[in-house]
Amino acid sequence: MQLDSRAPTGPIEQRWNDARFKAKLVNPANRRKYKVIVVGSGLAGGAAAATLGELGYNVSCFCYQDSPRRAHSIAAQGGINAAKNYQNDGDSVYRLFYDTVKGGDFRARESNVYRLAELSVNIIDQCVAQGVPFAREYSGLLGNRSFGGAQVARTFYARGQTGQQLLLGAYQSLSKQIEAKTVKMYPRTEMLDLIVIDGVARGIVTRNLVTGKIEAHTADVVVLCSGGYGNVFYLSTNAKGCNTTATWRSHRRGAYFANPCFTQIHPTCIPQSGDYQSKLTLMSESLRNDGRVWVPKNVADLQKDPKSIPESDRDYYLERLYPSFGNLVPRDIASRRAKDMCDQGKGVGPEVAGVRRGVYLDFGEAVKRLGRDTVAERYDNLFQMYERITGENPYEVPMRMYPAIHYTMGGLWVDYNLMSTITGLFVGGEANFSDHGANRLGASALMQGLADGYFVLPVTVANYLAGIKPGGVDDNHPDVKRTLSEVETRIKQLLSIGGKRTPESFHKELGTLMWDYCGMARTAEGLKFALGKIPELREQFYSDLSIVGSGEELNTMLEKAGRTADFFELAELTCRDALDREESAGGHFREEHQTEEGEAKRNDDEFSYVAAWEFTGNTNAPKLNKEPLSFEYVHPSQRSYK
Ligand SMILES: Cc1cc2nc3c(=O)[nH]c(=O)nc-3n(C[C@H](O)[C@H](O)[C@H](O)COP(=O)(O)OP(=O)(O)OC[C@H]3O[C@@H](n4cnc5c(N)ncnc54)[C@H](O)[C@@H]3O)c2cc1C
Repeated sequence: MQLDSRAPTGPIEQRWNDARFKAKLVNPANRRKYKVIVVGSGLAGGAAAATLGELGYNVSCFCYQDSPRRAHSIAAQGGINAAKNYQNDGDSVYRLFYDTVKGGDFRARESNVYRLAELSVNIIDQCVAQGVPFAREYSGLLGNRSFGGAQVARTFYARGQTGQQLLLGAYQSLSKQIEAKTVKMYPRTEMLDLIVIDGVARGIVTRNLVTGKIEAHTADVVVLCSGGYGNVFYLSTNAKGCNTTATWRSHRRGAYFANPCFTQIHPTCIPQSGDYQSKLTLMSESLRNDGRVWVPKNVADLQKDPKSIPESDRDYYLERLYPSFGNLVPRDIASRRAKDMCDQGKGVGPEVAGVRRGVYLDFGEAVKRLGRDTVAERYDNLFQMYERITGENPYEVPMRMYPAIHYTMGGLWVDYNLMSTITGLFVGGEANFSDHGANRLGASALMQGLADGYFVLPVTVANYLAGIKPGGVDDNHPDVKRTLSEVETRIKQLLSIGGKRTPESFHKELGTLMWDYCGMARTAEGLKFALGKIPELREQFYSDLSIVGSGEELNTMLEKAGRTADFFELAELTCRDALDREESAGGHFREEHQTEEGEAKRNDDEFSYVAAWEFTGNTNAPKLNKEPLSFEYVHPSQRSYK
């Protein structure tokens, strides 16, 4: 298939305006005749469902949690970017666009990124109107802080609970539409497959997670906002339920999967403390505004009380290596440097598997400079969370941090209208690949989810619907019945294996393999090894899996088994993509491709494209399609934050 990004041409500042003007409209009286399915009630899905409902479409919204308000978006801590320039520090839409293209290591589509920067401004107005309690200055103006990869302060925040407050805003809007009956909410309902008829997305098959009932839901258009797939690595900062089933099953039905190897590792997470753990905890990037990252210069000091180590014996390595950006270098760079320090034997904290994996994030100087009250105003809830988990008080003792899997830039391929390679299947938020290239800058995921949900999808979905007749799907269509029966067969197969190992144990083994060979640093040799091991482990999964209980009841083991089965296939594609991309870019660091200073070394001549993988029916042989990237405005250069 020839990939058409449908990115508009002309001056970049006018592209979205022109596209909106050219988009077809649906007469308000006709909107209720169109059935829209939205999978996901996080910031992207919640915003899309609420807005489409408000516009008058007949929306069904699905999530696997017991309430839309528990979507993983609620976990977002640090903030949301917007080019408001309230600080008068030189920010602009163009600068946010520039920072995002550069931050993504020149692997994103310029038109999409510009639109994102442009819409960032509207998002803040929308959320303030909803009553989202963003932090304010004494003057009453909204406050801002800095995030990595930017030299301006453009991040809006609500203490360390920005995602929660934004989600409450979207949830309020969604609830209003549920009450108005323009949106029907299906909580605890998991999409297990996509219904495609004659190449067009026509609905989904779901399992009711309480009763086990399998059902088909048909519609005129399907919108996936089902989040990211970071949990393919097992240990991550994502909510435990985050998975790839909605996107992977759509991939198997014809939606291309783009850049799966572009995964983000966040530099400031609480280090793993043992191999019994099933979850890692993020400490927001906002902490790097005032916290200083260091390790002891001398190996003899590694186990000493950090407060007893004099300034002259501390290596503030980010400030030393990157004097311009200091502790606020982008995540990929801060993560790799932390790993380097620990690999060099300078890590702190307890040994896990023979290595101390931790660096200090120190607020000693900030407390002296700003006073404890100001530090508490900014970060106290994060400090409390840290203390509860580690038993150490960050006001007194430096925090210990280590990078962890956090976000996925890869996802289903979409064009400028956020439509996938399946006609009628749209994808928004973290589930698509669209805006962050090879590395996402902090506080830009919430921005993208809400831009997609509140502003882009309502226009592009309407444009699509205006071109089709409503209600053209027959629930008895053979393809609806076939998809339903395929889901039932898959569930029966999983339940009938009767082996000895839990889905969790397979997931953990898969995740360890992924982290070791497709994590922070990758090599051709390691990736080939993983590509040999994953199918072996998958075979064991299908012969030795044990699930207690049945399919006709609440069965979390069955849920996990289905998700793990899909993670196996995605893991293989991710390693293949990482092996194929013979360059380093952003979060994808191939050890063979680095500069003399150990920075990621891109190969623009050969890899300036989006890798869009097509499912061929054989997980061993996906087909690679390429969408070439061209840069008219931000010209690719070696990223420098020095
Ligand atoms: C700890 C943490 C902190 C973060 N902090 C920030 C931050 O400060 N700023 C920032 O910009 N970004 C942050 N991020 C990233 C950001 O939170 C996410 O990228 C974003 O919230 C994703 O939103 P989403 O709507 O795309 O998906 P999600 O919020 O993950 O929502 C997915 C939805 O899809 C539903 N779903 C999924 N699969 C299915 C299925 N098969 N069937 C039915 N429903 C399904 C789920 O139930 C859920 O409703 C953070 C991430 C983490 C992990």
